[in-house]
Amino acid sequence: MAEKIKMNIPLVEMDGDEMTRILWKLIKEILLQPYIDLKTEYYDLGLKNRDETEDRVTVDAANAIKKYKVGVKCATITPNAQRVEEYNLKSMWKSPNGTIRAILDGTVFRTPIIVNCIKPLVKTWKKPITVARHAYGDVYKDVEYRIQKPAKAELVFTFEDGSEARQTIHEFETPGVVAAMHNLDDSIKSFARACFNYALDLKQDLWFATKDTISKTYDHRFKDIFQEIYDSEYREKFQDAGIEYFYTLIDDAVARVVRSEGGMIWACKNYDGDVMSDMVATAFGSLAMMTSVLVSPDGCYEYEAAHGTVTRHYYRYIKGEETSTNSMATLFAWTGALRKRGELDGIKGLTEFADKMEKAAIQTIEEGTMTKDLALLCDLPDKKVVNTEQFLMEIKKRFEDQ
Ligand code: NAP
Ligand code: MG
Repeated sequence: MAEKIKMNIPLVEMDGDEMTRILWKLIKEILLQPYIDLKTEYYDLGLKNRDETEDRVTVDAANAIKKYKVGVKCATITPNAQRVEEYNLKSMWKSPNGTIRAILDGTVFRTPIIVNCIKPLVKTWKKPITVARHAYGDVYKDVEYRIQKPAKAELVFTFEDGSEARQTIHEFETPGVVAAMHNLDDSIKSFARACFNYALDLKQDLWFATKDTISKTYDHRFKDIFQEIYDSEYREKFQDAGIEYFYTLIDDAVARVVRSEGGMIWACKNYDGDVMSDMVATAFGSLAMMTSVLVSPDGCYEYEAAHGTVTRHYYRYIKGEETSTNSMATLFAWTGALRKRGELDGIKGLTEFADKMEKAAIQTIEEGTMTKDLALLCDLPDKKVVNTEQFLMEIKKRFEDQ
């Protein structure tokens, strides 16, 4: 047996809930620990421990990512009323992803894992499309009002110096609705920088689109900030890397993405990113094949799968029934984090390990061995459907045969 790969600086490891917590343990035992002297700083973000620590553990984990720069996170339950009862929670704790995002101030990039036996629903797509979603403001932080009787709706600005400005929204004669939303130059700037940096990392073109022809101040500000930052900080770097940045209208972008062969990063405002990442994920095949990474403006990376804790499979698992849960996105969260650790710390063995492991995993599926979710989508004639653990063993076999 070859010597295990050594690490210098730990990864921030965030454990999670339900079926993905089971996958987490199996991935480590079967595919990571036999080959790597895994060095992690462990935070248990499982709902029970979040409750016991009054969610302090989530904040501590986010601060650890700031310190060590790279983290890997298992899917976690975002509690709702039913979960409060199920876990007898002290409080309906906030979404861990929301908490971590607020501390790191990042942009979320989602990329599908492509295998040749699953054809995207869009015939022209040959390479992955990464959707970069701005994760601050707009309709997610708006203020809304229902108007029941005739009224003049106005925006009122009260400045620090005591002066005031007003703008009429609409003079309502009949009932209606009003919404006011905002964003911040600083947040848009960090979104832009995260996108430009990620495009350089991946050596892929960056597209950005809004509706600035209609939203002449709000969306236009996004367009201008991207252009200013590109011109002053990134134009030369992009030329050197042989990649391109361009801006277009959102409707034009949608049409072009569908006709493209993929292989680009598509930066989207918050709402556009929410909608388009689900569209892209579904058109590429399966949520279980979608990876996600949060990149902060000061260069912190947090890797995870895009899917949740796969609750239905977990309930089957605890009843002792067989499960066939797809571990690809969770495995790629680990390889993504290990590769980044390798790059940052100059450990070639780690980046090579990540490449080799991902190759073995893709090869396993392309040779026809897969979990149930993929078997439904895959057009190979002879498919072998395996259970959760067998799938990892099949990857291990191919990894060792390389
Ligand atoms: P989900 O866990 O993504 O699962 C939805 C369904 O998609 C599953 O029931 C399963 O379908 C299929 N699926 C998803 N991932 C799969 C995989 N790896 N292998 C095979 N099938 C897979 O979403 P959910 O049921 O809406 O949410 C469950 C919990 O996850 C919730 O408590 C939610 O708060 C949490 N969540 C966490 C995150 C995160 O931490 N990033 C994200 C989303 C949701 P079948 O049952 O039909 O096989
Ligand atoms: Mg959504």
